Amino acid sequence: MSMRNFLLRIINLFYPNTCSSCGEDLHALLKTKICDKCKKAFPAIKGLVCQKCGMPLPDGGEFCYMCRKYPREHNFDKMRSVYLYKNNVRKLILKFKYSNRAFLAKDFGLFMYETMKNYSFYDETDFMIPVPLNILRRIKRGYNQAELLAEVLSLKSNVPVLKNVLFRKKITKQQFKLSKIERAKNIKDSFSVKNNEFVKDKIILLIDDIATTLATISACSLVLKRAGAKKVYALTFARD
Ligand SMILES: [Zn+2]
Ligand SMILES: [Zn+2]
Repeated sequence: MSMRNFLLRIINLFYPNTCSSCGEDLHALLKTKICDKCKKAFPAIKGLVCQKCGMPLPDGGEFCYMCRKYPREHNFDKMRSVYLYKNNVRKLILKFKYSNRAFLAKDFGLFMYETMKNYSFYDETDFMIPVPLNILRRIKRGYNQAELLAEVLSLKSNVPVLKNVLFRKKITKQQFKLSKIERAKNIKDSFSVKNNEFVKDKIILLIDDIATTLATISACSLVLKRAGAKKVYALTFARD
């Protein structure tokens, strides 16, 4: 064992650092909380994707079935995601949201930044806006996970985060307890924009941890466009 590895073992005894996904020991001095092995095994979205919503298109083509059939269904211009919402990515997001692991935002944000760099349209972004939580859930959780991700992305990309502009109007029921149709109804009209002048003629990037039906991202995009935004892009960590 090298001296360096020996010292790292000693440090690990006092400051245990483990992978948040598999529990394996990580070097104490590493800032990441996800080991390389886990990261490589995550279901990355790569190869051909729908030009609009970013859904993988294993058989090729420009747009996915939904975006072709309902071209006006989504109010955003383009969206991309880093991983599919399944297997260990799903488990990790649940920990991030419900088990007080806010620190995972650092790793998630860096993975999102890698994806952001892959698509040149993101270079046009004027401001990032995290998808807001309703106030009760914000207080209960202590943080808005989308806001944490936006802050990490902002540090890496130098694109500023715009706060106090996009709000939840009413207390919505928790989305995952509802059916697809109920979700759409629940989410529609639940956002509003204050201070329109900040978004007028701007290109906005919406940030969220996960996109399920796209109803949330779409509803946010609609109010931003109504407030005068020139374009709305979205980037999420995972895609269901
Ligand atoms: Zn691991
Ligand atoms: Zn699509």
